Amino acid sequence: MKVTALGSGDAFCSSGRGHTAWLVDDAQGAFVVDFGGTALLALKRLGRAPEEIGAVHFTHLHGDHIGGWPFFMVDAVYRAQRRTPLVVSGPPGTGERLHALWSACYSTAAERPLPFPLHVRELSPGDEAELAGRRVRAFRAQHMTPPNLALSLRIDELAFTGDTGARGSHATSAPPLVRLRTNRTMCIPRGSS
Ligand SMILES: [Zn+2]
Repeated sequence: MKVTALGSGDAFCSSGRGHTAWLVDDAQGAFVVDFGGTALLALKRLGRAPEEIGAVHFTHLHGDHIGGWPFFMVDAVYRAQRRTPLVVSGPPGTGERLHALWSACYSTAAERPLPFPLHVRELSPGDEAELAGRRVRAFRAQHMTPPNLALSLRIDELAFTGDTGARGSHATSAPPLVRLRTNRTMCIPRGSS
């Protein structure tokens, strides 16, 4: 397994770091967690083909985590002419938000049927799903206020904090980072934005 930081910065690209996106290569292929506005550029600079990516898992719907979605899509539709399925997960509202973003940027393309199957699975805290051959578990991150939700994710043995505090700030919420970590977990944190 290999984890590559396509971007580990905040919303402001502080210190020249890209918007959040993590590329993971494992036995099942490749997936990404979050796909911020600079992610496609980072992928191309590594010589990677976006169509190799079988799944995109979004921790939350802030722009620095989803801003690269319309560019991922336009690359898939027009350059790669993708035909292979793409699995997407994210918090409630992900499907509608991603389509709105795609439509706002490339309205004509967004009106047409996609040339590849797109499966969007929305996850709430506590949900567990088998997605693209991997076990995905969602935890609530302390980052957004209802009705918006931010997630931390366990994907097989990897833990992605998303944007979250280190400890629970409310008596009713257990510290998400504690619940994320178990033996053999690689925990991937980042700054807040
Ligand atoms: Zn955020």
